[in-house]
Amino acid sequence: MQLAQKTIEKSEEEWEQILTPEQYHVLRQKGTERPFSGNLYYNKEKGVYTCAACGQELFSSNTKFESGSGWPSFYDVISSDRVRLKEDTSYFMNRIEVVCSRCGSHLGHVFEDGPAPTGKRYCINSVSLNFKKEGGESKKGEEEK
Ligand code: FE
Repeated sequence: MQLAQKTIEKSEEEWEQILTPEQYHVLRQKGTERPFSGNLYYNKEKGVYTCAACGQELFSSNTKFESGSGWPSFYDVISSDRVRLKEDTSYFMNRIEVVCSRCGSHLGHVFEDGPAPTGKRYCINSVSLNFKKEGGESKKGEEEK
């Protein structure tokens, strides 16, 4: 397992140059992709899900589950230091936002209606993730056009 890495700080202008428009919208402007649109929602391969902005390893395929929500869902993080949780009261809702601890990018939200053993449901935008297949190639989380 990759160790937690040093924090990355970039200006929004720098992020805008590195990321695709859709990635920038979700990761840096807290957007939400259309449900069922992402490339990784149906992904069932074994491997590790990384932050699409900075590459930090975030979720293991072992904790991915079928939530029916339309967004990749996990019941745990690889290690709790990989994300930061923030209160989010936008859109008249009380939600907990999940951001990457390394680069501060928006990943999704976490809810308390997940399966055992944690009871958590990390509801994560596919666009915010990339996937590294065990012993294999990588896949982009962004929808292929
Ligand atoms: Fe990151």
